[in-house]
Amino acid sequence: MTSTLITNIGTLVTNDPSHPGLLGLVEDAAVVLDGSVVTWTGPAADAPAADQRFDAAGRALLPGFVDSHAHLVFAGDRTAEFNARMSGQAYTAGGIRTTVAATRAATDAELDANVGRFVAEALRQGTTTVECKSGYGLTVADEARALRIAGAHTPETTYLGAHVVAPEFADDPAGYVDLVTGEMLDACAPHARWVDVFCERGAFDGDQARAVLTAGMERGLIPRVHANQLTHGPGVQLAVELGAASADHCTHLTDADVAALADSTTVATLLPGAEFSTRAPYPDARRLLDAGATVALSTDCNPGSSFTSSMAFCIAVAVREMGMTPDEAVHAATAGGARALRRTDVGRIAPGARADLLLLDAPSPVHLAYRPGVPLTAAVWRAGVREV
Ligand SMILES: [Zn+2]
Repeated sequence: MTSTLITNIGTLVTNDPSHPGLLGLVEDAAVVLDGSVVTWTGPAADAPAADQRFDAAGRALLPGFVDSHAHLVFAGDRTAEFNARMSGQAYTAGGIRTTVAATRAATDAELDANVGRFVAEALRQGTTTVECKSGYGLTVADEARALRIAGAHTPETTYLGAHVVAPEFADDPAGYVDLVTGEMLDACAPHARWVDVFCERGAFDGDQARAVLTAGMERGLIPRVHANQLTHGPGVQLAVELGAASADHCTHLTDADVAALADSTTVATLLPGAEFSTRAPYPDARRLLDAGATVALSTDCNPGSSFTSSMAFCIAVAVREMGMTPDEAVHAATAGGARALRRTDVGRIAPGARADLLLLDAPSPVHLAYRPGVPLTAAVWRAGVREV
């Protein structure tokens, strides 16, 4: 294996508690990679020798972004719906069915190419780990196909047969829940790590969501929940009760919801791209952080309500609109995402971690919020391989 010394790093974000501050910063730093892992971090003056040397020229190095919530297996787009919404129409969960029709009509090769394109697009912007959900098939065969295709691009695959009730079951939602917890689960469980449900008015209520999640858990899948996005509801409490890895959206929370998250290991995953793209009120990250909850930031990349793959954009919005400090937002987009995926090998730069690194074309990670909309990716390594 070849070792690489990355030196002359102006600011190194480690997320390692043995270094100071929330981000575990080291100034004038160096990192050594060996194969796919980090083997050393510290002051550049103390760095050991390596086979290769990379001069970071005083720029900032941080862990690759961990995007723990994305919907990438789909066909078509929803430009017209977005355009109409920006012209005054409200967002409802029903638009998902438009993408379902296009996705069912697509070939395996088309869907695979789409996922590959979005994973590459995210990688160019510094995202080295991405979660990917099913949920635009809504038949046994189409949901299993979505997860097989997603699994070729990421190990973080999530069974979301319970995205909305399939159109064929519009008059029989109970029958659809039976399918999702029965034959569809049988076909999908071998291809998924996680089980998810859209617990929301217009999608699935608390009892239905509980049935979906517990059936998945009985098959070894770990729960995560689309919770409290559009309205107050039972999603967050259900996520905490079932020990879900994350409750995602968390836009409409009661004090009891905030307290439940703060007292749990369930991560509150905030998805500001959805509020941005639907002109909806943002979740109150400050309230969650002050209560002691763990917060992650993710893109929710999907064709209907948040068609962005940019974690830097989410960081900028979280700082400007959601009360997060730049350090908190960067932490949430790296270490927070890792927590939401229960990963200890990503989201940090420390000996033993996977060598997933983002070199910014900037001296500080604060620039991700300070310079919104500016492409700041100078280089990206994924598992020790220089990708950008
Ligand atoms: Zn989502």
